[in-house]
This record gives sequence, C-alpha cells and structure tokens, in this order.
Amino acid sequence: MMKKIAVLTSGGDTPGMNAAVRSAVRTAISMGMTVKGVYRGYNGLIDNNFVDLDLRSVSEVINRAGTFLYTARSPRFREEEGVLEAVENCKKNDIEGVVVIGGDGSFRGARELSMKGIPCVGVPATIDNDITSTEYAIGFDTAMNTAVDMIDRLRDTIRSHDRCSAVEVMGRHAGHLALQVGIATGATAILIPEIELNIDDVISKIKQSQKIGKNHFIIVVAEGVACGVDEIAKIIEEKTGVESRATVLGHVQRGGNPTVRDRVIATRMANEAVYLLSKGIGNRVVAYKGDSIVNYDIFEALNMKKEIDVDVLRVAEEVSI
Ligand code: ADP
Repeated sequence: MMKKIAVLTSGGDTPGMNAAVRSAVRTAISMGMTVKGVYRGYNGLIDNNFVDLDLRSVSEVINRAGTFLYTARSPRFREEEGVLEAVENCKKNDIEGVVVIGGDGSFRGARELSMKGIPCVGVPATIDNDITSTEYAIGFDTAMNTAVDMIDRLRDTIRSHDRCSAVEVMGRHAGHLALQVGIATGATAILIPEIELNIDDVISKIKQSQKIGKNHFIIVVAEGVACGVDEIAKIIEEKTGVESRATVLGHVQRGGNPTVRDRVIATRMANEAVYLLSKGIGNRVVAYKGDSIVNYDIFEALNMKKEIDVDVLRVAEEVSI
C-alpha cells in the first residue's frame, strides 16, 4: 500500500473539483495514507508547491465551485525537463502516486508522469463533457443548469419585446452542452459544431414558428460554431425582420455551487482513483459508464472516440418549432 499520495487540479476549473479533492483526501486518510495537495496543477509539481491536507483542510469545500488548490495550464510540463523535475519533487516529498483532476490534456500529462515512474490516476472534470473516455465529466451538470437558468432569464425579456436571442454557450469544440441546454430551454434551433451550419434552415424554422403565432425565439449556439453569435443574430434580423440580440454567457457557466449530481459523481470518481493508487495501479483514468464508475488505461482512453448523441439531436429537432 502506498503511504503518501498527492492530488492536483489541472486545466479549466469546474464546479465539483473541490468535491473530488475532498473525496480523494478523505478516502486516502481513511485507508491510512497521507495526502499532499499540489497548487496550480502541474506547475506546483515542478515548483515544489505542496500543502499538507488533513481531514479538516477539506471541510466546507464540497459546496463551492472552483478549486481551492487553484489550477493552471503548464507549458513547462509539456517538456520532458518539466516532467523530470516533477518526478524529482515527488520523490523528495515521498509522493508515490498522484490523483489528477482535469481533462484530456491533463490526462496526457498524467500519462507522461506515470511513464516516468510516478503512478497517476485521472479523474475527468470539464463543463464541456468532451472527454472521450467518459459518458459524464464533473462540472457538466452544474454548467448545464447555470446556462438554462441564464437563458430562462433571457426568455423573460425577449418574450416581452418579440425578439430573437442568439445565445452562445461553452463547449469548446463540442456541442454536448449546447444540445442539452437547447432542449431544456425550448430553443427554436440548436447550432453545434458537429453539424454543418445551415443558416437558411434556421431562418425557415423561425418563419414556420411565426406562422403558428410565435414571436420570440431562442437560438442556442455552441462556442465551437465558426460563424459566431453576433453574425448569426445579424443574419436572422436581416432575413426575418425580427429584432435579434447576441448574448455570450461566457465564464459564468464555470461558477455556481455544484449540483447534487456533480458532488456525488465527483465523490465517487475520486474515491475510485484513490483505491486504484492504493493498490499501486497508475496510468489509468476513471470514467462514468451506465451508472458505474469504471477505469481505463490512459492511452486507450485518449484514443477513444465520442460522438454527439444523434438520437438526442433528432428529438431536439422534432420538438423545436
Ligand atoms: P484539460 O486538462 O482541461 O484538457 P489542457 O489541455 O490545457 O486542459 O491541459 C492541461 C495541462 O496538461 C497542460 O497545461 C499541460 O501542463 C498538461 N499537458 C497537456 N498535454 C500534455 C502532454 N502531451 N504532455 C505533458 N503534459 C501535457
């Protein structure tokens, strides 16, 4: 059994990361291990920036978004020299394994570190839900709910003015967030990068809706759609005559108290990560499949493919008018 492990958060922050850190710490301590927190992702490993974490240091964090360990993107860790410095520092601090909470990029780093002798287990966290190996990533549920709440507020005002609102939601290169949010807000159209943009389709949908007496419209646009919301709003206004406004929800989607789902899944996933490390197993990522927590080899995980759920897309199209 390992005696000491470390935990870090890396890449973009998400609601639920703190819940994952808390779970890793409490699980490890309950198994008789000690835990170091690493500040600012892989930068902390390179800079020897650690903090001792005990049962109390993770009190009052399960309900808070962000990460109290801070996070960072670390260009230095992409170089072999950076990874070797990290290995050195782990050895100096008797750290035998690391829980890495982050996205696919962070898992690539975890793989490098595992290959150099420090076993790592990845825990998937991203509001974009674009991590290929897992059906669900920590932060997605909270971000969806935040976006829906914001768009509900937009609906209040566009309804009063007979306007169209083109709303950009996050998602990086993927449309998972936009698709769910679009359905939940009753969007007239959902534009995602996986489907080629056909603005004429959007225009004819709006015109069709107008025929049945609808005068306000929500168009949900994933950030990965090349033609941005400003342009989309402009074209809609020109071609339909409906006054149209563009709104970019932006980083508010990363904040807010994590939902039950995010807290529970974060807790389960980090617990599994620590179990794996305790057995000396590294170079793995945990993942959500069905309602179970599973794990995969990192290399295998990074080579998996994830596609947009075409059936959900079909439903969205059938009910949007
Ligand atoms: P995410 O984990 O959210 O996908 P990034 O892609 O920014 O975010 O990756 C987070 C960090 O992981 C990077 O800043 C870098 O330090 C590390 N990383 C990413 N790719 C590699 C790689 N190929 N080798 C080593 N470290 C990497």
